[in-house]
Amino acid sequence: RSNAEKFEFQAEVSRLMDIIINSLYSNKDIFLRELISNASDALDKIRFLSLTDKEILGEGDNTKLDIQIKLDKENKIISIRDRGIGMTKEDLIKNLGTIAKSGTSAFVEKMQTSGDLNLIGQFGVGFYSVYLVADYVEVISKHNDDKQHVWESKADGAFAISEDTWNEPLGRGTEIRLHLSDGAQEYLDEFKLKELVKKYSEFINFPIYLWASKEVDEEVPADEEDSSDEDDTDETKSDEEGEEEDAEKEEDEKKPKTKTVKKTTYEWELLNDVKAIWLRNPKEVTEEEYTKFYRSLAKDFSDEKPLAWSHFTAEGDVEFKALLFVPPKAPHDLYESYYNSNKSNLKLYVRRVFISDEFDELLPKYLNFLRGLVDSDTLPLNVSREMLQQHSSLKTIKKKLIRKALDMIRKLADEDPDESNDKDKTDIEESSDSNEKKGQYMKFWNEFGKSIKLGIIEDATNRNRLAKLLRFETTKSDGKLTSLDQYISRMKSGQKDIFYITGASKEQLEKSPFLERLTKKNYEVILFTDPVDEYLMQYLMDYEDKKFQNVSKEGLKIEKDSKDKELKESFKELTKWWKGALASENIDDVKISNRLADTPCVVVTSKYGWSANMERIMQSQTL
Ligand code: ADP
Ligand code: MG
Repeated sequence: RSNAEKFEFQAEVSRLMDIIINSLYSNKDIFLRELISNASDALDKIRFLSLTDKEILGEGDNTKLDIQIKLDKENKIISIRDRGIGMTKEDLIKNLGTIAKSGTSAFVEKMQTSGDLNLIGQFGVGFYSVYLVADYVEVISKHNDDKQHVWESKADGAFAISEDTWNEPLGRGTEIRLHLSDGAQEYLDEFKLKELVKKYSEFINFPIYLWASKEVDEEVPADEEDSSDEDDTDETKSDEEGEEEDAEKEEDEKKPKTKTVKKTTYEWELLNDVKAIWLRNPKEVTEEEYTKFYRSLAKDFSDEKPLAWSHFTAEGDVEFKALLFVPPKAPHDLYESYYNSNKSNLKLYVRRVFISDEFDELLPKYLNFLRGLVDSDTLPLNVSREMLQQHSSLKTIKKKLIRKALDMIRKLADEDPDESNDKDKTDIEESSDSNEKKGQYMKFWNEFGKSIKLGIIEDATNRNRLAKLLRFETTKSDGKLTSLDQYISRMKSGQKDIFYITGASKEQLEKSPFLERLTKKNYEVILFTDPVDEYLMQYLMDYEDKKFQNVSKEGLKIEKDSKDKELKESFKELTKWWKGALASENIDDVKISNRLADTPCVVVTSKYGWSANMERIMQSQTL
C-alpha cells in the first residue's frame, strides 16, 4: 500500500516468530485463547477508564463490551474483534513489534529446546502465537486518541503500518484478521472454534460471540417452496398449526398443505457464560471448574492442577469475595524479582469491574506466588487507582487474605497423608481423595518453601503460623523432611530447647563435632543448610514456648553430668592459662564443655555473634 510505513521487528521478536512458525509439534489451538485474552484485557482497560470518564465509551455499538469472532471460509480468514481500548499508531509499533517484559529471552531459549509454546501467555508474548496458524496477519485498531490504523505482517522480519482508509470504521477497538496458512484450515470450522472457546476461554468476563450458521426449518406452502413472501408463510404456518390439532382427531384424512425446508441463516451465538465464578456458591463449583478458572486466570495451561485453592466471602466492615490459588509450579522469575517488585499476582475487582492486577497492597511480598482475585463491594468505584491504593479498607482485606492463604497452606499439609506422623489420624481421614492429596505438601514445599522462610523473616504477626509450615531435615529424620510440631513431639523429656545447627550441607554438618555429644545422648538436632536459614534463625526465636538453640553457639544446655562441677574445678588453672595465651586471638572465654564426646576442643560462637556458617555466607554473599 502506498501510505504504508515499514518497520523491522526487534531482533528478539523475530527470533521468537521464527520459532513459532517452525514449531511443527506445538499445539496450534492456543492462538485463539491468546487473542481472546488480549481482547478481554483491552475491554477491561476501557471499562476501567469509563468509571471516571463516562464519555470515553462513546455511544451506540461502541458501548457494547464484547468479543466477536467471525469466519470467512471463502477467503480463509478468522477475525476476532473487540470494542476494547484499541491501539494508537504508537501503540501498534510498540506493542506488536517489541518485547518489553523481562524473561522473554529465557522463554525463547526454553522454547528452542522444549518446543512447547503452551506457556507463551505467561511471558507477555502471546500475540505472536497467531503465526502458528496464519501466514499473514492484519491488526486493525482504533483508539479514541488516534485515527484507525492497520498493522500487517507476513512474519518475514518486518511489519507495516498504514492509516486505514479502506476498511469499515471500527468505532473503537481492535480487529485481528488471521489469513490462515494451508496447514491450519481446520480452524475454519465453527464447531472446532466453539470447542476451543469452551475449553480455554470459558471464564472470560465479557461475552464472546461467534457469527454462527444455523439450520432452521421453514414451513413453506407445499407447491410454492421458493416463496419469499414472509407474511404469506407465517399465515400458512398458523393455519397449519390449527389444522394439526384437528388432524390428530381425524388421522390420515388430511394431506399436508405445506412442507419443511432447511434454510441456513447466521446469527451471533453466545459461547460463554459470563457469570463470574467467584460469585457462585463454592459448594456448587466443581473441582474441574476451579482448575479451568485457575488456568485462564494464571495463563498456566500446563497439565497440572493448582495445589490448593480457597474461595471465600468476607463479611463485616469490609465485604469482599476472594479466590486464591497455589499454583502447581513457581514462576520462573519468582525470586529473581523478589527484591525489586512489590507486584502481587492478585486481580482486584470492585463490584465485578476489573481494576488492576498490579496492586501491591493486597498481599505481602512473600505471598506473591499466589494467584487469584479479590472482588470488593466496599471499595469505591469512581476513584483513581492511586486513591484506591491508599484506601483504608485495603489493610483489612490484606489481613484477611494473609490469614486465609496461610490456612489454605496449612490445610494442604493437614490433608496430606504423607505429612502425618499420627497413625490414628490417618486412619480416620482415610478417604477417597486422600490418595490424590498424598505428597502434595512436599510439592508445595519444594516450589515455595523459600517464600515461607521469607515470610517468617518479614511477617512478625504471622511468624508462628508460618513456622508451623516449615519443613527441614534433622539428625533423626532419615533423609525426609519434618516439621517443628513433629520435632517437639519427639523431644526427650527434660529437653527445653529446640536444637539446630546451620551449615553448607547435611554431609558436612553430620561430621560436626558440635553434634557428637547430642547424638550420643539421643537428642535430635535440626540441620539447616539453605543460606536463607541463617537469616531465618535470626528472626525465629521461639516456637510454642520453646527457644531455639544453635548448638554451635554459646548457651547450649544439655543434661548436667554430676562430674561437671568437679571437672570445672580441676581444669581451672588450664582454662585460665589458655584464655591468657589466646587473648590476642579474638577469643572471649575458655570453658569446660559438656557438648563434646570425642573431639578434644571446639571453637564456639558467642550467643549474639555470627555463627561460622553466617561468616561463610557473608563472605561469599550467596543469598
Ligand atoms: P500481553 O497480553 O501479555 O501483554 P501479548 O503479546 O498478548 O502480551 O500482547 C502484547 C500487547 O499488545 C498487549 O500488552 C497490548 O498492549 C497489545 N494488544 C494486543 N491485543 C490487543 C487488543 N485486542 N487490544 C488492544 N491492545 C492489544
Ligand atoms: Mg496477551
